[in-house]
Amino acid sequence: MRRTLFNEDHEAFRETVRGFVERLLIPNHERFMEQRSIDREVWLEAGKLGLLGLEIPEEYGGSGAHDFRFNVVVNEEFSKVALAFASCMSIHADICAPYLVKLTTEEQKRRWLPKFCTGELWTAIAMTEPGGGSDLGALKTTAVRDGDEWVINGSKTFITNGYSADLVIVAARTDPSKGSKGISLFAVETGTPGFERGRKLEKLGQHESDTAELFFSDVRVPADNMIGEEGMGFVNMMKLLPQERLGTAVTNLAHATQIFNETLDYVKERKAFGQPIGSFQHNAFQLADLATSLDVAQAYVDKCTEAHVLGEATTVDVSKAKLWSSEIQNQVIDTCVQLHGGYGYMNEYRAARAWADARVTKIWAGSNEIMKLIISRDLGL
Ligand SMILES: Cc1cc2nc3c(=O)[nH]c(=O)nc-3n(C[C@H](O)[C@H](O)[C@H](O)COP(=O)(O)OP(=O)(O)OC[C@H]3O[C@@H](n4cnc5c(N)ncnc54)[C@H](O)[C@@H]3O)c2cc1C
Repeated sequence: MRRTLFNEDHEAFRETVRGFVERLLIPNHERFMEQRSIDREVWLEAGKLGLLGLEIPEEYGGSGAHDFRFNVVVNEEFSKVALAFASCMSIHADICAPYLVKLTTEEQKRRWLPKFCTGELWTAIAMTEPGGGSDLGALKTTAVRDGDEWVINGSKTFITNGYSADLVIVAARTDPSKGSKGISLFAVETGTPGFERGRKLEKLGQHESDTAELFFSDVRVPADNMIGEEGMGFVNMMKLLPQERLGTAVTNLAHATQIFNETLDYVKERKAFGQPIGSFQHNAFQLADLATSLDVAQAYVDKCTEAHVLGEATTVDVSKAKLWSSEIQNQVIDTCVQLHGGYGYMNEYRAARAWADARVTKIWAGSNEIMKLIISRDLGL
């Protein structure tokens, strides 16, 4: 179905993003997978093209686009090549950006945003801890006030960009007596004594991205590194998580659609019993089902994006988008693996890698069970 989400400006921007992907991501893809990270030079180039500052006002070096459809274009083009390219980019440009724009003081904006836009200041957000990620309100990392400083102790895990980030937004408990109302957010910069990173974690898929454990041992940050008001960390995370979830829905579908299209080509070429495998009715019907699922899911996610641009998308709307798109993505790619036969299990084939890359989308950004919790609460259950 023809999508109506984008106008000419978005499509012109898509050409720029495609050029970037072809020039810098595709030729270096294997190396990024081997080194378990993406070169900083790639992000500096992204900065020059204005891909990093879409959410940042012009006075701080961004383009102030304030139109999430441009972010959607970047996410779609990146995830067509590899989901991890989109997730690293999205953590910085779509997820950390609103924290640094909406919750910061003028002084903080001037300190961080210009380099955020050029890619010189790369960011991550650290909510999840080894003891738990779903129950964010129960996090254990602490921050204790000492004069003009806060002293942070604890650890975080599974942090995307965690190894390469220059600034990490860290959620920590500032008041142990107040549950989720006792959580605040801090900017912790690389080089701060006591802030250490563990190894790059060995994941099932998405080997292009660096995902790290972070350790905080008596890390002292100035009081003006607090992001947002004291005690409002949980509320602010809940307010800003919908954009993260919408972003994952976008990449889930772009990724699955790409693998679906490639599989469609494959089943027309590959023969068994003297005929293309796609011409067996069972396979043709499976592909018809998947095409339908993708189109229907895309229509809903596009509608959510439209609503988000207007400031009208609710937490429940985007939770449904995240839940549904990740289920469809995993179903589509699993079937694509099956249709590739033994080649579908070989890492040199895109379907195999995509299968491993996609599995996490049902777990991260709030697991699908947490999405169902949000949706069922909205139903009064
Ligand atoms: C590759 C990767 C990248 C990530 N990047 C980041 C990042 O950049 N920043 C960050 O902060 N985090 C990140 N995460 C963490 C991710 O958000 C968490 O893994 C996720 O929120 C789940 O938390 P958990 O792993 O602690 O699982 P748990 O919270 O221990 O949950 C385990 C299982 O129990 C289920 N469960 C929990 N509570 C309920 C309930 N009430 N009802 C029913 N089922 C429930 C969950 O759905 C899950 O299936 C990343 C994770 C991965 C794998």
